[in-house]
Amino acid sequence: MQLVLVLNAGSSSVKFALFDTQIKGHERDIARGAIDGIGQATRWSVKRYDGTANNEIAIKGDGVSNHKQAVSHILAWIEKNFELSSLAAAGHRVVHGGAQFTEPVRLNTKNCEALRKLIPLAPLHQRHNLAAIDSLTELAPMLPQIACFDTAFHATIPDIGRNFALPRAITALGVRRYGFHGLSYSYIANELAKQNTDLVTGRVLVAHLGNGASLCAMKDGKSIATSMGFSALDGLMMGTRTGSIDPAVIFYLMRDQGMSANDVEAMLYQKSGLLGVSGLSNDMRTLRAAASTNAHAREALDMFTYRIIKEAGAMIAVLGGIDALIFTAGIGENDSELRANIMKGLKFLGFVLDENANKTKARKISAEEGPIALVMPTNEEIMIARETADIIRNINE
Ligand code: ADP
Repeated sequence: MQLVLVLNAGSSSVKFALFDTQIKGHERDIARGAIDGIGQATRWSVKRYDGTANNEIAIKGDGVSNHKQAVSHILAWIEKNFELSSLAAAGHRVVHGGAQFTEPVRLNTKNCEALRKLIPLAPLHQRHNLAAIDSLTELAPMLPQIACFDTAFHATIPDIGRNFALPRAITALGVRRYGFHGLSYSYIANELAKQNTDLVTGRVLVAHLGNGASLCAMKDGKSIATSMGFSALDGLMMGTRTGSIDPAVIFYLMRDQGMSANDVEAMLYQKSGLLGVSGLSNDMRTLRAAASTNAHAREALDMFTYRIIKEAGAMIAVLGGIDALIFTAGIGENDSELRANIMKGLKFLGFVLDENANKTKARKISAEEGPIALVMPTNEEIMIARETADIIRNINE
């Protein structure tokens, strides 16, 4: 067994997964879990995959007040259940690799310092990713740690799509489009390569629709455009984020409404999107349940759908047409009504929905004619495990 620990640290949670990466291309899920509510009422849950049996154990933690304690808790659980010596490496989801890191990288002091400089570019995520890295460095100094980046997959976007129409001196500061959800897109591109040789060279639009949401236009399995930009705030409307808005709104709010930069930032990241428009929730299931009686919930859903269709139109123009549309992540994989409405909005491109397939969670939800539409579950964790194991193999060779 060659275990790889995958860590995805957020502001108040550390999600983890364990994979056996002994055989390349046949990574095995060993366990997945999370510590939620760090600093508050902590919950610890883990699901272990033992052969065909899934053991769900939920242990009420007695309080985890920081990331270091959370990581220590996870290591203790691994030690109790497996040989700690079979742990070969840890792979971290790191949201921002900046211009420098366009591939996964083994972490050392120098690389960590470079990643710390990117905190202002991803204020909600980067510092927490680094907190998990620092914790593990202290707790298991000999364990190789690899950073896998959400931005890296978009390194292939050409300058014309990557740069903003700003003075060159500002672009040179690194103010440009980076794009995110890259681990998810790279997993989908890999799956297409494995499953369908035609699509891998085609014009593919992937819609990663979860709490965070973005689109990625792929040609030959590579990103050529994406809806998120300098930050994960740009592009589509999301659970609590606005997506694109006229930047002049920000000047108005600060100058004329007396809001501080921090207030505006918190509003755009945490109080807008589905939550802001509905005034009810950022959760699609709650909004779907309320939509028949709550006009604001209905409007939030309609706006969410409209924004995806509108942005998809731009992406498909950049692709010069479309061979396949792929839905993934929590909403994309589960919300059949949204998929049907998006397909209806893109009907002018020849999309025909197979209604039965869409309702029964089939992989292919388009009819025989027209471009293909697929639902593909994403798996960012396994992507991190694969990238991590590849680096470890290279080190050991
Ligand atoms: P994150 O970006 O946090 O990883 P996920 O990919 O887990 O997000 O997606 C979370 C979203 O998926 C939530 O809005 C949730 O309501 C939605 N979702 C989950 N299950 C369903 C479902 N059965 N129908 C509609 N939406 C769903």
